[in-house]
Amino acid sequence: MTRIEVDLPNSLLLELDRQAAASAQGRSQMIASILAEHMGERLHTIFQVSTSGALVAGVFDREVSVSTLLEHGDFGLGTFAGLDGEMVVLDGVAYQVHGTGAVKVAAKDAGAPFAAVTRFSADETGCSGTIMDMKTLTEACDRFRKSENIFYAIRLDGCFDRISTRAVKPPVEGVGLAEASKSEGLFSFEDITGTLVGIWSPAFSSAFSVPGYHFHFISEDHQHGGHLLDIAASDLKVQVNALTDFHLVLPETEKYLKADLSQNNADDLAYAEEAHKD
Ligand SMILES: [Zn+2]
Repeated sequence: MTRIEVDLPNSLLLELDRQAAASAQGRSQMIASILAEHMGERLHTIFQVSTSGALVAGVFDREVSVSTLLEHGDFGLGTFAGLDGEMVVLDGVAYQVHGTGAVKVAAKDAGAPFAAVTRFSADETGCSGTIMDMKTLTEACDRFRKSENIFYAIRLDGCFDRISTRAVKPPVEGVGLAEASKSEGLFSFEDITGTLVGIWSPAFSSAFSVPGYHFHFISEDHQHGGHLLDIAASDLKVQVNALTDFHLVLPETEKYLKADLSQNNADDLAYAEEAHKD
């Protein structure tokens, strides 16, 4: 136990003492239980900015800054204002993978139109076994999920035999995500050490999230990365964090407020997320 000193407004202290007396607890006990509840909640919260539907509809404007995102999580993924590359948030640092393939630490005031982050804390850890492609990656990760109906953050670390990624480039004004994803940088790496940052979202969330697995890669030296398209690897370290609290922040930009988001654009989203054959 550590003893700490804090400054509290008198009104808050009075209310604290009133509630402590009512529940027959001391001040310390009361404060500790309030903190535990608050932290526990935050550990299992996914904080998402905007919706996948808005992104598909072409709402790529800055919504929040990178520094705001990092206040809500240290692990996650997204994209940048104007679709200027892929975002990978790992261990509290946001990386920007440009369409050219160049990776840099994102500026604190860089804007994001869409992102999902959490405070990563593994509930379960294990080994992936052999992964030959996206299908076996899915199967390997599925073994660590107990439910189809909550969200999960998934982290895979190790040496990848082969990995293919893409990074979007800023499209011409007014096109949607599916069209924008045609002008993207494609990258392939072999025998590369790094981390996959993943979010798994339930099927019912498809109207506002990316259903199923969504992975972004960052190499250990932070020189390479992008949205995952293909993979081969063995015995990666898998860490899974179940997320049962969803915090969705909707944009207030003119473009978002006026966008027609009534369409079901699941096909366009799936197209944008996958490797294109053409
Ligand atoms: Zn992505």
